[in-house]
Amino acid sequence: MPGPWRYCPVCSMPLTTKMEGGRDRVACSDDSCGFMHFGNFSIGCAGVVIRDNKALIIQRGIEPFRGSWQIPGGYAEADEPILEAVEREVREESGVIAKVRDVVGFRHSVGGSIGGPATNIYLVFRLDYVSGEPSDADSEVMGAGFFSLEEMEDIPGVQGLSKWAIQKALAVEEFGPGLAPDRLGGPVRPGFSVFGLGGNAFTEEA
Ligand SMILES: [Zn+2]
Repeated sequence: MPGPWRYCPVCSMPLTTKMEGGRDRVACSDDSCGFMHFGNFSIGCAGVVIRDNKALIIQRGIEPFRGSWQIPGGYAEADEPILEAVEREVREESGVIAKVRDVVGFRHSVGGSIGGPATNIYLVFRLDYVSGEPSDADSEVMGAGFFSLEEMEDIPGVQGLSKWAIQKALAVEEFGPGLAPDRLGGPVRPGFSVFGLGGNAFTEEA
């Protein structure tokens, strides 16, 4: 059995392995429980906030990558809608209030990272600036500010994925044809956040 786990986290019966979907997986020995471990997954989110053609970036004050600069972001909590998560992370890390406009892109990574989970989806949103000035008051941040891509050339250690996302966000003005939160249409159920092509268009016309 892989890993140090011995007992079911749901019912505390001993774990075993069961074949499911073409591979052996850690599973509860009690069939009435039904627990099966499919892997470790996490969702990260980050925001590109543009103001006057400059993007908001923060300098990490904690490891890993302490001292490097990136767009603000972090992990979404398991019970937290993704739009709330990214707007919260931007606010906490930079002091800036901003509201999600659309999706810039996402990164899917497998194989694990430094101390991180095995599989991660990192969603990058474009946010409209609302209010507030960049602040490094957060204990996990050493610096914060709006910078143009040109100015970032002189800042050592701006993360590649952040630059990529900022370039993408600056390249498409206004509401593009891409993915956006559909705040008024789409299937509505507790816990759902639905994104679709032109989602913002429907929101704007309503
Ligand atoms: Zn169990």
